[in-house]
Amino acid sequence: MSDVRNVIIIGSGPAGYTAAVYSARAELNPLVFEGSVTAGGALMNTTDVENFPGFPDGIMGPDLMDNMRKQAERFGAELVADDVIEVDLNATPKVVKTHTGTFYAKSVILATGSGYRELGLENEKRLSGHGVSWCATCDGFFFRGQDIVVVGGGDTAMEEAIFLTRFASSVTVVHRRDELRASKIMQDRAFANEKIRFIWDSEVVDVLGENKITGVLIRNRKTGEETELAVGGLFVAIGHDPRTELVKGQVNLDADGYIQVEAPSTRTNIDGVFAAGDVVDHTYRQAITAAGTGCAASIDAERWLAHHN
Ligand code: FAD
Repeated sequence: MSDVRNVIIIGSGPAGYTAAVYSARAELNPLVFEGSVTAGGALMNTTDVENFPGFPDGIMGPDLMDNMRKQAERFGAELVADDVIEVDLNATPKVVKTHTGTFYAKSVILATGSGYRELGLENEKRLSGHGVSWCATCDGFFFRGQDIVVVGGGDTAMEEAIFLTRFASSVTVVHRRDELRASKIMQDRAFANEKIRFIWDSEVVDVLGENKITGVLIRNRKTGEETELAVGGLFVAIGHDPRTELVKGQVNLDADGYIQVEAPSTRTNIDGVFAAGDVVDHTYRQAITAAGTGCAASIDAERWLAHHN
């Protein structure tokens, strides 16, 4: 077998690039598959990031990711903008295939992230980062004194709505049904909050505004009636899907499809396979937590290699 790498990293968000920086500085000569269209991960789709430590004036998402990429390259990480399409993680060495080749490694770090579910509207994409958001923790601060719409009816939607009342003048929850899926305790909290109101049996069918959101178009699913609501922000809180298709059937996943690790380590059920970032994380889903676990995965891999070389 030609070239067996110490470590292959799959994914190029904060978790993957941080793992790459640490692995490269540990002289592990990592090979990183970044993905073909979405190299840089979720922050490539946003504007200002104000909560990543070290940037007192904030930084644009793509600039932050470009910096991380350069930092990994500076220490010799080999970065390839290609998708991994198949893996055999139980083989020795482990096998990683892309459209252009087959690669081998002693250890693998999985950092493929997760995708926020979208409403699927053209203007939702266009105004992403310009009033349309998927993360209240990330963006709530930008919406002080605004009227905001939250779409969704689960626990996350209620959490986001309640959190946003710290900043917003009002929060309107738009839900497709006439009752919430959220747990009783979250429902009670949301109903008790005087800044939150509900529009039932309804969907957001368009997002209005040229360079910045100015409103949403809401359709009642029972009557078909459409109404415009003037708002300064739309938070989509209808769930997220971990990107684990690639490793399903090999690595243990939980009921929602996230990779299970032996926390606080990043070890999966397969010896020499580690996982980091949002593909593991239901709870925090932040760039800094993804970067933190990417660092941990690299150190875990390095120590594992020291015992298996
Ligand atoms: P990701 O960033 O999702 O990266 C995963 C990478 O893996 C992607 O590049 C993908 O292409 C690649 N990949 C997946 N499958 C494969 C494959 N088969 N082969 C090769 N590559 C693959 N967090 C904050 O802390 N502050 C913010 O202000 C903030 N704003 C946000 C704004 C938006 C619009 C969004 C969507 C998220 C925001 N977040 C923010 C959350 C933050 O982006 C995520 O928590 C973080 O990016 C997760 O990092 P990750 O490395 O786990 O995954």
